[in-house]
Amino acid sequence: MSDMQVVLGFDMETDIGSWTPYYEGVKHGTPAILDTLARNNIAATFFFTGDAARKHPEVVAAAKEHGHEIGSHSLFHETLGDSLFDIPGMMPILPEEVPNRLRLCTQWVEEVAGVRPVSFRSPRLFGSTTVVNALDALGYVADASYPMYYFRERITPYHPSRDDWTREGDLNIVELPNFADLSMESKDTYGRDMDQWPLCRTHSAEALMGHVDGFIGYCQEKGVAPFLCFYFHPWEFHPMPEGEIHYGEGAVHPDPFIVKNCGPYAVEQLNLLIGMLGERGADFIEAQQVRAEVAS
Ligand SMILES: [Zn+2]
Repeated sequence: MSDMQVVLGFDMETDIGSWTPYYEGVKHGTPAILDTLARNNIAATFFFTGDAARKHPEVVAAAKEHGHEIGSHSLFHETLGDSLFDIPGMMPILPEEVPNRLRLCTQWVEEVAGVRPVSFRSPRLFGSTTVVNALDALGYVADASYPMYYFRERITPYHPSRDDWTREGDLNIVELPNFADLSMESKDTYGRDMDQWPLCRTHSAEALMGHVDGFIGYCQEKGVAPFLCFYFHPWEFHPMPEGEIHYGEGAVHPDPFIVKNCGPYAVEQLNLLIGMLGERGADFIEAQQVRAEVAS
């Protein structure tokens, strides 16, 4: 068994997260992802929003046929948990709405996939205690939402507390930290410059590997086996329009880094990243296969 487990997670949602109603990435970016994973003979987890699954059942079927895990990612990419920063037009839904939303998103994905999702990721890694409790009650075994760049406490998978999802406790579900480079000094208020995303696309696989190696070194100093959970989106692997995107009654103008290099360059870098992780001895597993470290 390898001593470095890696989970690649793809968040199957509308283009550019919540800001457009389009699924060009889901439709045209997913085949490139599936091809890259197949070439490297590895499995990953695809977290579908209920809406993406319903509108593109053929993409859910393709991911499943390729042998990947089908997870869920909210109903419509709404903010289910606690906001870490503000997003235009996005108000978090009320905590009392969370269990029903999660029940419905599970049901929608299950109806399309033919298998019940047991792994989840909160949109934008905005998780919460309410979310993990609701997921646990629905029988989920993995929540890949913990943003390490922000909390900087948990570095290995853990069973979260029912009173505080960022602390260890006795829920059955396993929380998967999305790795960040804790070996570096952050110059950002929220620590976003430590985060893995979106370096592979905006810079290169090699630039991201610098941070991977920083994190591996950090784990070794702490005496723990490195666990690396990644998050990507299908719209990163299909060219996205630059500048304003008009629809409905207005336009959105995403920051340049959001759409930079989306398409073939990102596909090529993903392939290189997988290769370099393989050279480091990575064991690629699905979110549902992750076990929490049990303190001895
Ligand atoms: Zn998302």
